[in-house]
Amino acid sequence: MILLLSILLTLVHPAVPDFHAWATGRTLRMDFNHGGNAHQERVMVSGFRREGAWAGSRTQLVSPLDSGVCRVTVRDAKSRAILYRRGYATIFDEWKTTAPARLTFREFHESVRFPEPRGAIEIELDRRDATNAYASFFKTTFDPGQARVDDRPLTEGTVRCVFRNGEPSRKVDLVLVGDGYANDDLPAFRDHVLRLTEALFAVEPYRSRRRDFNVWAVEVASPRTGIDDRLRPKRPRRNNVFGSKAGTFGLARYVLAFNNLALREAAARAPCDVTVVLLNTKRYGGGGIYNLYSTCAAASDSAAYLLIHEFGHNFAALADEYYTSRVAYQNVNPPGVEPWEANITALHDKEQLKWRDLVTPDTVLPTPWNQERFDFVSNRYQATRQNLRAAGRPEAELAELAARHAREVDTLFANAPHQNVVGAFSGAGYRAKGLYRPALDCIMFSRRAKTFCPVCARAISQVIDSYAK
Ligand SMILES: [Zn+2]
Repeated sequence: MILLLSILLTLVHPAVPDFHAWATGRTLRMDFNHGGNAHQERVMVSGFRREGAWAGSRTQLVSPLDSGVCRVTVRDAKSRAILYRRGYATIFDEWKTTAPARLTFREFHESVRFPEPRGAIEIELDRRDATNAYASFFKTTFDPGQARVDDRPLTEGTVRCVFRNGEPSRKVDLVLVGDGYANDDLPAFRDHVLRLTEALFAVEPYRSRRRDFNVWAVEVASPRTGIDDRLRPKRPRRNNVFGSKAGTFGLARYVLAFNNLALREAAARAPCDVTVVLLNTKRYGGGGIYNLYSTCAAASDSAAYLLIHEFGHNFAALADEYYTSRVAYQNVNPPGVEPWEANITALHDKEQLKWRDLVTPDTVLPTPWNQERFDFVSNRYQATRQNLRAAGRPEAELAELAARHAREVDTLFANAPHQNVVGAFSGAGYRAKGLYRPALDCIMFSRRAKTFCPVCARAISQVIDSYAK
């Protein structure tokens, strides 16, 4: 029985070979084109690139976290032992849930990074299906004796250390790059880096875990100041280095960087676990994709909030807890399926609630709150905001509207029952009904929040542990 049990345990958790036995200590990047539409896809490898020293953990190579829409698995080609596994998300996976993906094909350049192997490996990419079970969508092999690897020196940009607390393999290495900063704007970039790094580390759990991080900035000058806007195509092109574009998927506030290769080359100049792109713009916007990058309008009045919220997606795979703002995705978080993200739930089974241990016994589930009133003021705000945007009103007017709305929500929340408790509050993950968030407010829910809810804070801490323990 004991023998059977140990065999079963081996099947569930096979021993991961020692890092130095199979890895050279460098980072290998597989670059590929990922194209398709809502129904089909194709991955075409464009090359392998040798980056610097492996900055990730050398002991937690198979991620203890089950996060991400996709995941990459590296196996020893002979023994098929899993050497490395980590979840991630892609722009393609977001785009294919939007309306245009039903009518047209589109291609994105993507990469996965893992420790460079000494021998032949198999690389597999899987994605969760509608029930959240993983299914493979691409597999290839890499043999260092046969494959061509681009090992030219990395030259893109100048690296500056913001702060360093120790060996990159035992720390979270956060790399900040800037897009839309022309040569003359580089002093502003340095200022944004310092200001926003301090803002991030002023919030828990980052504040208490600051010593588990190294922070680096890589300076790359863009030819012109500012970023492009897909919704204003007649404006002169900015040609910023990382291809950042506001108006991604038709949303003015959604900004993604599309020049994956340039971004990877720059980020690889420093030890890199997680990348943040600061956007040289005052216009409210940003975006965050798990284990890819996050962006934020670094010159906006809301820069600190944008950085911290979007970094929550990028670093910790947190879901949006809000549901009243318009998004371009269709049929995400379908009813009936428990979301895999740590901070939202369909609450199918109260006893099995994933943050049950943080709920005090006398808290009612679902937890009542003044949702009807909140929905009314939020919908009115969203409609007014959209009208102001459409009329091309100045940023200051939008900021004033946002401030007024925030004050209204402040009053509403000040009178809400069950403040500062962990429960299950209706409205989360872009759905007013059927999905629940852990607390009344959280940085993943609203711009007014100053802290993460306890569930998000714990999820972030667990990610830090996966790099730094
Ligand atoms: Zn939260």
